[in-house]
Parts: sequence; structure tokens; C-alpha cells
Amino acid sequence: MPNRIRERRIMMPPLMDGYKPFGIAKCEPGWVTLYFEEFEAIRLVDYERLHQEEAAEMMNISRPTFTRLLDKARRKLARAFVEGKGILIKGGTYVTEHFWYKCHNCNETMITMKPASQCRECDSENIIQLSRDRK
Ligand SMILES: [Zn+2]
Repeated sequence: MPNRIRERRIMMPPLMDGYKPFGIAKCEPGWVTLYFEEFEAIRLVDYERLHQEEAAEMMNISRPTFTRLLDKARRKLARAFVEGKGILIKGGTYVTEHFWYKCHNCNETMITMKPASQCRECDSENIIQLSRDRK
């Protein structure tokens, strides 16, 4: 029986769906998928410069689990960077404090306290929920 993966708490959705390299021979670069919680690990330690203990606490996971998560995230970024692959930021095992939405019309990312049905920027109903429903 595999261990159930504990959900990691994340505070901020990424502003974009991903990255694509330019100036490479292949038109379709191939993709590396970075999970939301891996993005969060990079954000907390490499961007916000938190210590791993603090970051682990913020994500509600143990320090060793955080270290493995960060290592995996860095290796994915390194692979994309060296091999000229694009990066898709999506999916994962995580929980959020608020509701997150992404508008497919204008690309606005929204964080709301209550469920939303349309984009606050362009009023489009073509939005998808990025956050998970709490159980
Ligand atoms: Zn919109």
C-alpha cells in the first residue's frame, strides 16, 4: 500500500500557465510539468528566501518532505533549462486557503473568498477553478 500523500498548503497561484523557450531548432520543445506545490517551494525558498524549516511550516509538511519537494522542483527547472523544454505549471497535491480562478478570456488570475462564476476583469464566464474544494 502506498502512503497517502499529505496535501501541501500553498498561498499563491502562479501568474502564468508556463514558459516556452525561444531560439531553438524544434518548433515543439517538449514539456516539463511543474506541480503547483513545486512552484510554491521554489517561490518560498529561492524567491522569498525563507529557510526550509519556515517554508515547510507554511506548507504544512515536514522538513524532509519539503527538501524532497524543493529538490524535485529544482531538477525539473534545470532539465527544462538545459534541454530546451517548455514548462507547464499545473496540477499536484495541494490545498489552498481561498478560491483561485483563471480566466481563459483575458488570463486574469483571481483569488476570492467565495466561489466566483465570472471574471472580475472582463466579466467572462470562461473561468476555471485552480484551487481544490475542501473536503
Ligand atoms: Zn477575464
